[in-house]
Amino acid sequence: MRKVPIAVPYLGKEEAEAASEVILSGWVTQGTKVAEFEKVFADYVGSNYAVALSSCTTALHLSMIVAGVNEGDEVICPSMSYIATTNCIKYVGAKPVFAEVNEHYNLDVKDVESKISSKTKAVLIVHQIGMPADIDAFKELCERKGLILIEDAACAIGSEYKGRKIGSHSDLVCFSFHPRKILTTGDGGMIATSKEHFYNRLKTLRQHSMSINDRVRHESKKVIIEEYPEIGYNYRMTDIQAAIGIEQLKKLDLIVSERRKVAQRYINAFQYIDSIILPIEVGDIKTNYQSFSILLKENALVSRNDLMQKLLDNGVSTRRGIMTSHREKAYSGEYDYNLPLTEKISDNSLLLPLYFPMAEKDVDHVIKMVKKFLI
Ligand SMILES: *Cc1c(COP(=O)(O)O)cnc(C)c1O
Repeated sequence: MRKVPIAVPYLGKEEAEAASEVILSGWVTQGTKVAEFEKVFADYVGSNYAVALSSCTTALHLSMIVAGVNEGDEVICPSMSYIATTNCIKYVGAKPVFAEVNEHYNLDVKDVESKISSKTKAVLIVHQIGMPADIDAFKELCERKGLILIEDAACAIGSEYKGRKIGSHSDLVCFSFHPRKILTTGDGGMIATSKEHFYNRLKTLRQHSMSINDRVRHESKKVIIEEYPEIGYNYRMTDIQAAIGIEQLKKLDLIVSERRKVAQRYINAFQYIDSIILPIEVGDIKTNYQSFSILLKENALVSRNDLMQKLLDNGVSTRRGIMTSHREKAYSGEYDYNLPLTEKISDNSLLLPLYFPMAEKDVDHVIKMVKKFLI
């Protein structure tokens, strides 16, 4: 039987050779390769600066710190996201306030506005599964209310909003390079920013808040004694990861355009099924199709879980829709939330296989099986 996995990372000998070169160079932690990756990354997304980190979770944590989010503050975010979105708010002692999402999986700006209180400090939007949220609407709201906007763009590398890449529209945009995302360094993250003071502070915070970094001390002809003006973190990316990232970035446009072709085949095949809602682009946006999620309507012939089982029995791997934080044990009981839309979308959606390169026959097989159980 044909077996179609949910995702496969696109890694080749270029990445292996780049990693090997770094290993043999004798300098493996954060150094010149990290600096080079940051430069090409910032150029790619169109920001002034980029700061490489160990993950998107650590990127989000440092974003909270430089945004000045403190104990007792509130940050508005979706519950329907990977749980790291919510966790990073708790790391700084603040309270996540969950707002509703729409059927395109992104935050509803009106619901966000209704949840603003005197304690609100920031709004954390998520470009869920790569689909850009309406950034300008959130920027306008944040400016009007004096709030800081943070973008969780973990899934959105290569996606575009109004003709520009995600990463170029606001001052704290966090990306992930986990293998489940479309550009991977094994694990890793990045913050794109165009504000110089954020850039400088992020660079020190990620390295124990050390006043002089290792590389500068290493290359100095004079003895340098470093200082630690505030409590920092070890959230560094290694040069091995950065070398892989540089090679991945060269392939990114190809990966995105090929993913979009597979997504278009799914859309063409499924658009007439009236019991599902497809992840289509609304407005002037372009998604990287980090995942292809279908949302079952009430008239669907099968339940979400039954459909997942039937597809698995026929060799098609799927994953449940995006999780919700407020119903996880880590958060349940803590806050009382009424999020009917969030729960409905999370419980009735599933992710279909999408990766590059994906054999035509595998795409055909997924299409055939989905149609079989939904029509
Ligand atoms: C994957 C993901 C994260 C976490 O990224 P890591 O690099 O694994 O820390 C955060 N937010 C969202 C929306 C994600 O999809």
